[in-house]
Amino acid sequence: MSDVLTPDICVIGAGSGGLTVAAAAAAFGVSVVLIEGGKMGGDCLNYGCVPSKAMIAAAKTAHSMRHAEKFGIKAVEPEVNFRRVHDHVHDVIGAIAPNDSVERFTALGVRVIEAHGTFTDARTVEAGGHTIKARRFVVATGSRAFVPPIPGLDQVDYLTNETLFEQTRKPGHLIVVGGGPIGMEMAQAHRRLGSEVTVIEAMKALGKDDPELVSIVLDRIRDDGVEMMEETKVVSVEKRGKNGVRVTVEHDGEQSHVDGTHILVATGRAPNTENLGLDAAGIAHDRRGITVTDALRTTNKRVYAIGDVAGGLQFTHVAGYHAGLVIQSILFRVPGKPNNDMIPWATYTDPELAHVGLTEEQAHQKAGDITILRWPYAENDRAQAERKTDGLVKMITDKKGRILGASIAGANAGEMINIFALALSKKMKAGDLRGFIAPYPTMTEITKRAATSFAAPMTRKPMVRRIIGFLRRFG
Ligand SMILES: Cc1cc2nc3c(=O)[nH]c(=O)nc-3n(C[C@H](O)[C@H](O)[C@H](O)COP(=O)(O)OP(=O)(O)OC[C@H]3O[C@@H](n4cnc5c(N)ncnc54)[C@H](O)[C@@H]3O)c2cc1C
Repeated sequence: MSDVLTPDICVIGAGSGGLTVAAAAAAFGVSVVLIEGGKMGGDCLNYGCVPSKAMIAAAKTAHSMRHAEKFGIKAVEPEVNFRRVHDHVHDVIGAIAPNDSVERFTALGVRVIEAHGTFTDARTVEAGGHTIKARRFVVATGSRAFVPPIPGLDQVDYLTNETLFEQTRKPGHLIVVGGGPIGMEMAQAHRRLGSEVTVIEAMKALGKDDPELVSIVLDRIRDDGVEMMEETKVVSVEKRGKNGVRVTVEHDGEQSHVDGTHILVATGRAPNTENLGLDAAGIAHDRRGITVTDALRTTNKRVYAIGDVAGGLQFTHVAGYHAGLVIQSILFRVPGKPNNDMIPWATYTDPELAHVGLTEEQAHQKAGDITILRWPYAENDRAQAERKTDGLVKMITDKKGRILGASIAGANAGEMINIFALALSKKMKAGDLRGFIAPYPTMTEITKRAATSFAAPMTRKPMVRRIIGFLRRFG
C-alpha cells in the first residue's frame, strides 16, 4: 500500500518553474513535495538554454579564429573536434547540475520524488508509490518539441532538442526545419562548427521579432554560409542511401529536394499535458497547454499551472516569474497577474536579437501617435573597437516620451535589453534613460544615445534654440 503525504504544496516538474516554487516555499518553512519524472533541472538545464548556449560559445570561438585577421592576428581554420565540443557542452551542464539536484533540494527541506506524477482525482496525485494530498498543487511540467505530421518524418532518425546535444559526430549537412529562435541559434552554431546547414521555414525566419532588426541578424547568418529557405513548406521526408535524408520542399508552387545527413525538427513546442490525469482532476487544457486564469489558477482551484505548460511565452525567466507570483498567491494570499508587456526575450544568434514591450506595429495600434528612436552600433566607440558594428537599437515611445518598447539587434543585445526591461517595469520616459551616466566606452551608451535623440526635435523650437545660444555664449 502506498504511503500518504500531506504537504502544503506539491509541485509536479523540477524544471525552471517547479524548482523555483519548491526552493522559495522551503525557504519560508512550508512543507513541499517535488515530483520529477525525468532529469532534475528540466529542459533548460538538460536540453535547452544551457547546452545551446554552451554550443554557441564553442561556435563563436571557432568563428573568431576564422576572422582574426581584422585584429592583426593570422586567421586560421579551426580544427573542430565535435566529440570534445559535446564534452564541453556536457561539462557545462555538469557544472550547473548540483544547483538543481535532488541532494540540494533535499537539504533545503524539500521531499523529492523521482517518478512520473499523475492526478487521480481533484485533490490527489500518485507518484512512485506515494499518494500526495496537498493543500495546493503547482503543475510545472514544461513542454517538448512539437513534431509536425510530415509524411515520412517518422521513418527517419530525426533530431530534436532532446537528442541534438548527444551527437558526438559533426553532422555533414544539417537540415533545420523551423526558423524560430531555437532553429536559428542551432543553425548558425552548427555552421560555425563546420557543418553545412540549410534552414527551411514555412513563413519568415524569426517571424515574432521586428523585421527591420531580423534582417540584420539574417544577413550575418547568410554570410556565415547558412542556406536560408523561407516561405518554403516541407512536403515530405525520406531516407536517402545509408545515412542520408532527402527533404522535398515546396516554394511558390514548385517542388525541389534538399539532401542532407541529419534533420533537426525545431517547429515549436507542445505542452507536457499527457498522462498527467488532468481530466480526472477537472483541469481544462487544450493543444496550447493548461488553461489558466490571470492569476495562473487552473479550472481546479487547488491547482496552479506555470511555465511552458501554461501556454504563454515559453522562456526560463517567464517560468521563474510565474513561480514568484504563485508563491505570493499561495503563501500570502496576494494573487499576482503576470504582466507580459514587460517580459523581455533574447535570441542568442550572432548578432543577438532582443526585445521587450510593444513592437512598432502593436505600439501604432495601442498608442497611435508614437516616436521611433534609432541608434546604430556603428556610432558607438566600443562597437568600433571590437569590430561589432552590425546592429541597431530601436526604441518606441509615446508622444510624451514614455517608453513603450525596445528592440536590439547587435552584440550583447541580450544584456542591453535589461535596461529597457527596467525602464518599462518602472514606467520610465526617454528622459530617464538620458539622465544616467554610462561608463565609456560601453555598448550601453547606444541605448542612452537612442533615448537622447527623443529630445532632438526640441532643439528646433525657437525658445530652446535661444537657450542653447545663450548657453553657448555664456555657459
Ligand atoms: C533548445 C532550447 C533553447 C532554449 N533557450 C532558452 C534561452 O536561451 N532562454 C530562455 O529563457 N529559455 C530558453 N528555452 C526555453 C526554456 O528551456 C523553457 O522555457 C523552460 O525550461 C520552461 O521551464 P518549465 O519549468 O516550464 O519546464 P521545464 O524546464 O521543461 O521542466 C518541466 C519538468 O517537468 C517534468 N515532467 C513533465 N511531466 C511530468 C510528470 N507528469 N511528472 C513528473 N515530472 C514531469 C519534465 O521531466 C521536466 O523536467 C530554450 C528551450 C530550448 C528547447
